[in-house]
Amino acid sequence: MDKDVRQWLAPLARRWGLEEAMERQAPVFAWASAVGEELSKLARPLYVEGRTLHIAVASHVAATELRLLEGKLLARLSQLVPENPVRRLRFHVLPQPAPPRRPQVEEPTAEDWEAAEEEIPTGLPGELRVRLVRIAAWARARDRTILQAGGRRCPKCGVAHFGPGELCPACSLVSGEQAD
Ligand SMILES: [Zn+2]
Repeated sequence: MDKDVRQWLAPLARRWGLEEAMERQAPVFAWASAVGEELSKLARPLYVEGRTLHIAVASHVAATELRLLEGKLLARLSQLVPENPVRRLRFHVLPQPAPPRRPQVEEPTAEDWEAAEEEIPTGLPGELRVRLVRIAAWARARDRTILQAGGRRCPKCGVAHFGPGELCPACSLVSGEQAD
């Protein structure tokens, strides 16, 4: 493990009576340095059990590739963490967390512009009204994009969102509903 990290973590771990557990898990912390940045993106260390380091990979292909390197990786690891040698790597194919959904918002359609025109009162000063119509048309395009990508409409304010609950993030903040 990184010397600095260890110096910083050890007193905390000792206080919590976790020093032993932390020592045992040291290969988890050393993994990224052992395999390099490229490989550590494909293979995430999970935990040490006995002398086995369990690793999550995104695909069977990645697992096969890494198995070919097992000897080399184990040698690297025991150089970095000599007091806690890992003898085996075990790969688990786990789905990677989905990338954040951020769909491209398409331009407003003719209907969006028409609906926006109707939505904004006519009595407003020209310049302001033009601006509000434009905002309303783009808001419609945005909502449509979000709904098509699997989002939902907030029952309180009507805005489309990707939040986990029914309410949009703003409304759930106001109502105190936990958006976990
Ligand atoms: Zn809302």
